[in-house]
Amino acid sequence: MEIKFDDVSYTYNAKTPLKKVALRDINLVIQEGKVNALIGTSGSGKTTLIQLINSLLVPTKGKVKVDEDLIGPKSRIKNINALRRKVGIVFQFPEEQFFNLTVKKEIEFGLLSFNYRTNELDKRVSDALKMVGLDDSYLERDPFKLSNGEQRKVAIASILVFNPKVIVFDEPTIGLDYDSKKNLVKLIRMLKNRYNKTVIIISHDIDFIHAISDYVILLDNGNLIITGNKYDILANPEALKHYNIPMPKIVEFSYKALKDKGIKMGYRDDVNDLLKDIYRYAK
Ligand code: ADP
Ligand code: MG
Repeated sequence: MEIKFDDVSYTYNAKTPLKKVALRDINLVIQEGKVNALIGTSGSGKTTLIQLINSLLVPTKGKVKVDEDLIGPKSRIKNINALRRKVGIVFQFPEEQFFNLTVKKEIEFGLLSFNYRTNELDKRVSDALKMVGLDDSYLERDPFKLSNGEQRKVAIASILVFNPKVIVFDEPTIGLDYDSKKNLVKLIRMLKNRYNKTVIIISHDIDFIHAISDYVILLDNGNLIITGNKYDILANPEALKHYNIPMPKIVEFSYKALKDKGIKMGYRDDVNDLLKDIYRYAK
């Protein structure tokens, strides 16, 4: 499913003195079936950009093409519900939006308006729970009484239940402990590899981004600075320095091994793979 930004700008309060340009002349193609990482400092326009993909915001200039739909100042889409089933967004702290008394109700809520038969609805809810690593014993539990990590999983399941082709996560690691973060890495890899989803992730956590992304998009102050293959940007100390991106720990380690000891490590996403390289080298 194609997602393409064609000279897109977005200005908040465009017609008032409070006017604020959040994005400027963005040209961008989201990589299908890949994990696209959207990075940049706070206020650079990341959350604005993702809201343009499912028409929560409409460009003030240019067009966003999503599948067959064009979204722009003069081209509104016909079926907004269909679009929002294709592109699911997991917003920051999604669990803060919980309002149902059971996990089941929380996950199925968005589906109720679509007239599914009860057994199909139940199966979808159950499948979505399974995808995030929770079993049916959670169905009747109170979502407010779950751990942080479990709440985040339920919130993600409430998006996956629509079976969207594209899944967007806005700062999904904030407030998660180490194990929950590891689970999230696994979940995102599964969404890409097993279910062939397109994933877009906004995160400040450069180690997390390095672990899971394929493609990196860097924004600064509303401008698109660079896009490219993960290894060309995040595993390249010169590029990192040039674009003022913090160095992922694993890259820092490999770089140091090369600089101080002349040991050349391969590019690795995962510390465990890097460890294997070290063992091999030590032998
Ligand atoms: P990021 O997600 O990268 O932190 P945002 O997309 O949220 O950045 O914001 C981009 C810019 O737009 C910021 O300067 C922010 O203050 C401004 N902005 C965001 N939301 C609004 C809004 N509802 N009204 C006015 N300005 C906004
Ligand atoms: Mg944001």
